[in-house]
Amino acid sequence: MAYEAIWANEPSKLNAAEFMKMEKDGLDVIRTIIETYSVEGYESIPADELNRFKWAGVYQQKPNDGHFMMRIRIPSGMLTAAQARALADISTNYGRNLMDVTTRQSIQFHWLRVEQLPDIFKRLDAVGLYSFEACGDCPRAIVGNPLAGIDKYELFDTTEIVQQVSDFFVMNRDFSNLPRKYKISISSNIYNNGFAEIQDLGFTPAVKMIDGKEVQGFHIQVGGGLSAKPFLAQPLNAFVHQENVLKVAIGVTTIFRDYGYREKRHHARMKFLVNDWGPEKFFEKLTELIGPLPERGEDKTIGWQSAYYDGIGEQKQEGLRYLALNVPVGRLSGTDLAELARISETYGDGSIRTTISQNIIIPNIPADRVSEAVTHDIFRKLSPNRTRFLDRTVSCTGNEFCNLAIVETKLRAQSVAEYLEVHVDIDEDIRIHFVGCPNACGQKQIADIGLQGSLVKTSAGMQEAFDIAIGGILGPNAQFNEKLKGRVVGEQVGPVLADLIHYYKETRATGETFHQF
Ligand code: SF4
Repeated sequence: MAYEAIWANEPSKLNAAEFMKMEKDGLDVIRTIIETYSVEGYESIPADELNRFKWAGVYQQKPNDGHFMMRIRIPSGMLTAAQARALADISTNYGRNLMDVTTRQSIQFHWLRVEQLPDIFKRLDAVGLYSFEACGDCPRAIVGNPLAGIDKYELFDTTEIVQQVSDFFVMNRDFSNLPRKYKISISSNIYNNGFAEIQDLGFTPAVKMIDGKEVQGFHIQVGGGLSAKPFLAQPLNAFVHQENVLKVAIGVTTIFRDYGYREKRHHARMKFLVNDWGPEKFFEKLTELIGPLPERGEDKTIGWQSAYYDGIGEQKQEGLRYLALNVPVGRLSGTDLAELARISETYGDGSIRTTISQNIIIPNIPADRVSEAVTHDIFRKLSPNRTRFLDRTVSCTGNEFCNLAIVETKLRAQSVAEYLEVHVDIDEDIRIHFVGCPNACGQKQIADIGLQGSLVKTSAGMQEAFDIAIGGILGPNAQFNEKLKGRVVGEQVGPVLADLIHYYKETRATGETFHQF
């Protein structure tokens, strides 16, 4: 493999993480966790091995006192009731009854201890779920259409394609040592609910006339990503038949593995390679690897609805409805999830879906049973009813648990949204995203209002503060938001955003929306 040649020839050009991965593959830590660390305890784990825990989907939790966070891969956000119940049990048994829905449609646990990990791995495996490679330098969970199979606005059902690609990459040692993390989205929803432009590889809906017949497939874009230096993915001149998705995914991932940068860690994401090569050279290399692909056809993405679904929605199946719930800043309890599984089995088909917007959907409820379903107490907490701000607010983990965080985010995000509910009256959705550091897990660059935490020196000492950026959007007019001058201390964020939105409301032109402001 080319990357082995890189190691052999130019070891001086490798960052420290590369030597760690060379010494022991990240995936090998799973066995060591089961056989050694879970028996000998937290104190027995060497520092480099703690780094490899990411390949098991496990991170140290702040303040590094022996507790861990764990992410579960949920391809396209699709869970069965049995899977949801298993997750709920893990949360109540081991995770202090706390869980978060993440912006990769994953479920994240906190408060786990190394002794518990083998049993958790076993419980997940029993229901076909994995934490493995939910983190680490490998293909992460594949995001996609949470309404796949029931969506009035999808070209075709992507469920099996996502599962096929996910199954291929998970625990695949040919791809367990990439230069950095690597993210794929696959969706045929015409409102881009896979957020294709911020993925390393995004598949979006397209059609093409081939031999006089219209064929439904995908367009692809590569090299998107956020963090401190964000890039929008660039389209390649290719139409991908549905049966070729895996082949293309393997080809693109191989290019990243073999040609991605391994010298400076912050420069190792695929977005830098694509930016340097340009889409033409990247495509040339791809076709060299996997053979020719037809040229682009007609793009079917017509906008972006930021993966928000409100209340009771119509499915493409007549007589069936989905119930879209607002999970404030993505946080719920294991008890909540178990109750949602019970309700889904009672009224729906037992399935539950998670969204990139950190919310949950219960699909396949007969239309004449929805009004009864929503009477359950759980829906006072996880409500299907619209609010203006709370259900359009996203937050990363922040310094409650994350070692990289500079500030607290989830409580702040919720309190700011609640402040705006009371103090701002506007007839437009304004999406607000909070992140606790430049890594942007809460996707602040694509928010109408993105807030990034920092610390400022004030007369009262160091205080949490936020940079504010406005105007982010994906879809055909994709752009990252722009930072405003200055920083706002935490307590003032609510009032400042209220002023900002009032100013927009008073000065907006007819037809203008917030991202054009
Ligand atoms: Fe942690 Fe930063 Fe990611 Fe937030 S954005 S979860 S603070 S790494």
